Amino acid sequence: MGGLVPFTATDFPGRFAAAVFIQGCPWRCGYCHNPHLQPRQRGAHDWAEVMALLKRRAGLLDGVVFSGGEPTIDPALPDAMAEVRSLGLAVGLHTACIYPRRLEAVLPMLDWVGFDIKAPFDRYDSVTGVAGSALPARLCMEMIVQSGVAHECRTTLHPALLDEGEIEGLAATLAAAGVRNYAIQMFRAQGCGNGALVASAARGHLSDAARDRIAARFDNFTLRLP
Ligand code: SF4
Repeated sequence: MGGLVPFTATDFPGRFAAAVFIQGCPWRCGYCHNPHLQPRQRGAHDWAEVMALLKRRAGLLDGVVFSGGEPTIDPALPDAMAEVRSLGLAVGLHTACIYPRRLEAVLPMLDWVGFDIKAPFDRYDSVTGVAGSALPARLCMEMIVQSGVAHECRTTLHPALLDEGEIEGLAATLAAAGVRNYAIQMFRAQGCGNGALVASAARGHLSDAARDRIAARFDNFTLRLP
């Protein structure tokens, strides 16, 4: 595992949770703010350590959220989630929608999933840096929506990657696919290792009118500023 935050009130909506960061991600988004978690290597913590912490904090926590990297890369994820549930804790997942079959295996154990849709599907590879990345993302999105698990879909917005028309078009696609809760996260320079994206991020580029049109498509819409 790449990291452990013993307590967070912001990463799992409505829960006081521990956050577990899984090491490894096959994609290479320029705006990634956890690039140290991209290599799949042995991390600083092991699962027994997490379970010991969860047991010590019984009564103080009501959930565990798995994040990354890409948590579904880890073959041990289903067992870890089952152990968390056996403690009576809720389970949350942050995923970039990379592995549909692995997501399918854990979806029945989830109380909430936050998932990234990074770009219009015909522009996907230019954001992830990986050919063919749109297909798994689309399959995961459809699976999550059809499952009925509580969700938040989110897109990181950087002016060099998506323009206003593209983000409006993406919002329309997501709403038509059944996404009900959507968040746009304006690019954050903190932790980003891509100097060109950091340098070109200064200007805002989502007008109030576009924001309002996007918000009207969803039950809940959040605009997260850096
Ligand atoms: S999918 Fe997430 S963890 Fe992987 S490179 Fe992109 S932003 Fe980073």
